[in-house]
Amino acid sequence: MRIDTKLIHGGVFGDDRTGAVSVPIYQVSTYKQNGIGEHSGYEYSRTGNPTREALEQLIAELENGARGFAFSSGMAAISTVVARFDQGDHLVVGDDIYGGTYRVLSKVFNRFGIRSTFVDTSRPEEVEAAILPETKAVYLETPSNPLLKVTDIGKVAEICRSKELLLIVDNTFLTPYWQNPIDLGADIVLHSATKYLGGHSDVVAGLVVTRDKEVGEDIHFLQNSMGGILPPHDSWLLMRGMKTLGLRMRQHETGARRLAEWLVSRPDVGSVYYPGLKTHPDHDIAIRQARGFGGMISFDAGDGKRAEEILSRTRWFTLAESLGAVESLISVPARMTHASIPPERRRELGITDGLIRISVGVEDVDDLIEDLEQALR
Ligand SMILES: *Cc1c(COP(=O)(O)O)cnc(C)c1O
Repeated sequence: MRIDTKLIHGGVFGDDRTGAVSVPIYQVSTYKQNGIGEHSGYEYSRTGNPTREALEQLIAELENGARGFAFSSGMAAISTVVARFDQGDHLVVGDDIYGGTYRVLSKVFNRFGIRSTFVDTSRPEEVEAAILPETKAVYLETPSNPLLKVTDIGKVAEICRSKELLLIVDNTFLTPYWQNPIDLGADIVLHSATKYLGGHSDVVAGLVVTRDKEVGEDIHFLQNSMGGILPPHDSWLLMRGMKTLGLRMRQHETGARRLAEWLVSRPDVGSVYYPGLKTHPDHDIAIRQARGFGGMISFDAGDGKRAEEILSRTRWFTLAESLGAVESLISVPARMTHASIPPERRRELGITDGLIRISVGVEDVDDLIEDLEQALR
């Protein structure tokens, strides 16, 4: 089955009992047992719920993994996966990742003795150099956030295999529509489904997919133990959004490509970061490992003051955190999504005060270009 068909017919299609084409919302906490321990496969909805399971099966199939899991947010998904590690374990993590992931690793999990070293994973030699005897996993995002650096997943997977490390990839930016990290050697794939998978700015959710069953058993144990599950109604809403993932991703990308090229042509704009540009340093890797470049663009508008002025003038780009929705969104990472990263660290990484990040929506791209043009002027 090809991905566009999988999005419609994958996972659990409809309901056998009634013939309903949409998976019903099982708004239920507990299930009748015919005798003690004799149940239908469902005992309690934290452990398992049919609506959530339909979503979990769908994401597992879309990512070509063995098991899928749905959580109440991307951060709940990430925290549950990191809880798999023990005191004294060490992780090698991308340095250009979602600010909340940096925060939970450096301010929460470090208190429990799980240490992280942050490196530029788009340079596999840096990953290799950071590995310690206590290292248990490599964690990365590609393309990265907000600078859209691309990491060669296959190369990092090779390093992980040779050192018996788990490779964890946050696939939020490209989604399984454009990129399948498990096919490239990853062991665990994570999503903030709040973004492209949901796609309509109406649900906060996280997903995890494991390559094999054993790691899947572990994640299920942790999901049930820690309890950060996605409720049935939100699971249904997410599946509803995912039906149109293909249509949306193609439109996001068409718009992003045109907008990126237009930004490059502007004399009043500094660096433009988009993996689909031939001038992007990782353009060739992006072509090799993914089927598309996505809908995220960052560009340098000069200084923080000009960036703020531009944001205050756009009409079709909504000033907001988040990304991946049908509406175009605009933000200044240094003061919004990445504000939890210390200023000196941000400067080292290249997240300048004038850096603007755009999530290109599905509006008519000519309207988007006109809007940015008047805002830049
Ligand atoms: C938003 C985001 C997260 C966190 O997900 P939430 O759903 O907001 O908890 C993690 N990773 C990436 C890449 C994100 O963009």
